[in-house]
Amino acid sequence: MKILDQFPALAPPVSVRVMHLVFDIKFVEKTLAINAAEMYGWCDASNLTIHLCQGLRPALLADTAIHELLHAIHFTAGMDDELDDETMAKQLSGPLVCVMRDNPEFFDWLRCLINSEI
Ligand SMILES: [Zn+2]
Repeated sequence: MKILDQFPALAPPVSVRVMHLVFDIKFVEKTLAINAAEMYGWCDASNLTIHLCQGLRPALLADTAIHELLHAIHFTAGMDDELDDETMAKQLSGPLVCVMRDNPEFFDWLRCLINSEI
């Protein structure tokens, strides 16, 4: 059963603004994912698209959406792949504040997903 069938009120946003870029959000069949056994989503930065697999449990979908959003922020902010965790945290926090401010519906959706399994 698909997540949207289970929680019809949780229609996900179709895009998320990450600073000056807008990433589309697309739900895909898990079979489209590379290494599908371990991959629940991916961020295609060159096409400004976050892909999320259909049918994930809400908490796992929220986890995956946040993971891919962080990849989108990492790309948009032009962060170095070799950063240590403290530097990465410092460089992610400001852009994350901007993303949270600019996308309240996206974070409402995440909150609904997370709370639906409590
Ligand atoms: Zn990743």
